[in-house]
Amino acid sequence: TLLLSSSNAEISERDRRSVFHSWSAQGSLDPLPIAGGAGVEVWDAEGRRYLDFSSQLVNVNIGHQHPKVVEAIRTQAEQLATVAPAHANATRARAAELILERAPEGFAKVFFTNGGADANENAIRLARLTTGREKVISHYRSYHGNTGAAISATGDWRRIPNEYARGHVHVFGPYLYRSEFWAQSPQEESARALRHLERTIQAEGADSVAAILLESIPGTAGILVPPPGYLAGVRAIADRHGIVLILDEVMAGFGRAGEWFAFDAFDVRPDLITFAKGVNSGYVPVGGVIISAPIAAAFDERVFPGGLTYSGHPLAAASIVATLEAMAEEGVVENARAIGETVIGPRLRELAGSSPIVGEVRGRGVFWAVELVADRETRDPIAGSVVAAIKSDLLSRGVLGFTAENRLHIVPPAVIGEADAARGLEIIAEVIDRHGRKA
Ligand code: PLP
Repeated sequence: TLLLSSSNAEISERDRRSVFHSWSAQGSLDPLPIAGGAGVEVWDAEGRRYLDFSSQLVNVNIGHQHPKVVEAIRTQAEQLATVAPAHANATRARAAELILERAPEGFAKVFFTNGGADANENAIRLARLTTGREKVISHYRSYHGNTGAAISATGDWRRIPNEYARGHVHVFGPYLYRSEFWAQSPQEESARALRHLERTIQAEGADSVAAILLESIPGTAGILVPPPGYLAGVRAIADRHGIVLILDEVMAGFGRAGEWFAFDAFDVRPDLITFAKGVNSGYVPVGGVIISAPIAAAFDERVFPGGLTYSGHPLAAASIVATLEAMAEEGVVENARAIGETVIGPRLRELAGSSPIVGEVRGRGVFWAVELVADRETRDPIAGSVVAAIKSDLLSRGVLGFTAENRLHIVPPAVIGEADAARGLEIIAEVIDRHGRKA
């Protein structure tokens, strides 16, 4: 069922004429036309197929066009396509129940948003309102979304031109490969990053800090799996100073890291969890905040001063219900973990052993980064032109890749089977190998 209504060239031309794209200079764009998809593949308007090793924006965990999710959206659209957030609706309640079932003990309610940025925006608001404090501490290497507080909490270059919100402080998190702390071991990196965090809190005035907001595994910043003890240490610091711990699971959650929540693999329980992407694989825009019982109860009598026209939109809710049910029935989270352990991890480690331009590989589940370097000794990042050439070579070999700075992220849908994973990895290894021999 290919949608062959227009040529690729025509779609590209119309897009360039009328569509204003995210994070780009508009003049030099050449976006790849995508007309359809199924499972781990997408195809263009002329039927050329690509293995989707990007999961689009690392969100299509359940794969493209999952029939149960598509059907649930269709059925809900026929019954009630929209409803105001103030009404009660059974599909919305079911979506909240299914999300809470997957959260740890002690989480009571879900506030639905339109996506990940406003999930963080509202988590920050909840933390500020319940603590009566203003400051939010987050990592320099992070992305939390592109709205007022979320972009100011973000650690990468995208914050700089958008920094209008008040009360944001940043710290360096652990990243042993490029340690800011002269650490030689994961234990040292963890201990020193924790000390840096606590010293920053003291210097800022602990009584002014409402929240620590962290991605459980920083994603776009490089899939920086935290060293043992780091997240538990952050929890202890938050507790010592009466600070709310918000874990951003927007990218890492719902199967991506081989767990329902990435933090499930670590010894930590947050106060607020933000989610989006994988909760419904982006079939309808949605996100939200999972709220622990004490924070939810703080608004039993007091008005929560926040809301959105589409909070708990029924099409989004229906897609969440179908996604979470299908993921459980089909063992999608277990699959992601197994593929990471038995296929992606071993193949990438082999590549790291053989290629002179691979400095490090790291990850879990279907959430991996290949750190490309000009020199393995100095660890200098490889030139952007090589990263672009690798991405373009992958595309010409039928693999849609995801790159960020000097890295290739290996982020296929969580439903990917062994054969497709191995096939994509073989192409990736060949392309990196070829560029390594040129270097
Ligand atoms: N948080 C994290 C960790 C993300 O990766 C993203 C998006 O990539 C966001 C928040 C923002 O989500 P959205 O783009 O849905 O607003």
